[in-house]
Amino acid sequence: MGQITLKGVRKAFGDVEVIPPLDLHINEGEFVVFVGPSGCGKSTLLRLIAGLEDVSGGEIEIDGQPSTDLPPARRGLAMVFQSYALYPHMSVKKNIAFPLKMAKADQATIDRKVENAARILNLTDYLDRRPGQLSGGQRQRVAIGRAIVREPAAFLFDEPLSNLDAALRVNMRLEISELHQKLKTTMIYVTHDQVEAMTMADKIVVLQAGRIEQVGSPLELYRSPRNRFVAGFIGSPK
Ligand code: ADP
Ligand code: MG
Repeated sequence: MGQITLKGVRKAFGDVEVIPPLDLHINEGEFVVFVGPSGCGKSTLLRLIAGLEDVSGGEIEIDGQPSTDLPPARRGLAMVFQSYALYPHMSVKKNIAFPLKMAKADQATIDRKVENAARILNLTDYLDRRPGQLSGGQRQRVAIGRAIVREPAAFLFDEPLSNLDAALRVNMRLEISELHQKLKTTMIYVTHDQVEAMTMADKIVVLQAGRIEQVGSPLELYRSPRNRFVAGFIGSPK
């Protein structure tokens, strides 16, 4: 579960091609980071995988199934939005339960899954609070909880920490890495922050203007950047 393959995937908005055809393979259980400067197409690529945008060409396969056959809800992927996407009038418990309610799960299942997610995220004592009564880090954990209860084949994060201050970002980075160790689920994590990429990734995909400049482990990219752009971006000595 959670194996994702992009074959010649491209995306244009009107006449503007923001992603020229690209190929990429993501293995089951991998923590993959898409990194690159603002406007390079990271969010677009993630949204194509999630099915929130249609590809202009090529194909995305999720666990061997062509995504053209799979509407977003059936892809088994959970997008984690920034914490401000929470419902302010609902309790933490209801926020986390929301996708299960939408899927018409029964109450016993909802309670079990919400409790489990809350335990994983250390939110058990906060279930009755509203988002406004939580710290930034706790709010971000609630947003992650809402993804966990769906038991997705892969988690998709789009710059989830960009709203948080520097100290909290470091903390949440560790928490998300720990979550990956616990769940062993595929995670795709988008960031413009090379430090996040280097510290969190099994595999880094460096993007520039919609093109993949290099794919490799943090160590591979650091030791053998393919070009100046990668070297400069990763902060390699070369
Ligand atoms: P990133 O997430 O790396 O900052 P994006 O994927 O948001 O980059 O954007 C990549 C490029 O595609 C940018 O030039 C952006 O202006 C353009 N773009 C993104 N979404 C749309 C859209 N819905 N319509 C037109 N252009 C878009
Ligand atoms: Mg973006």
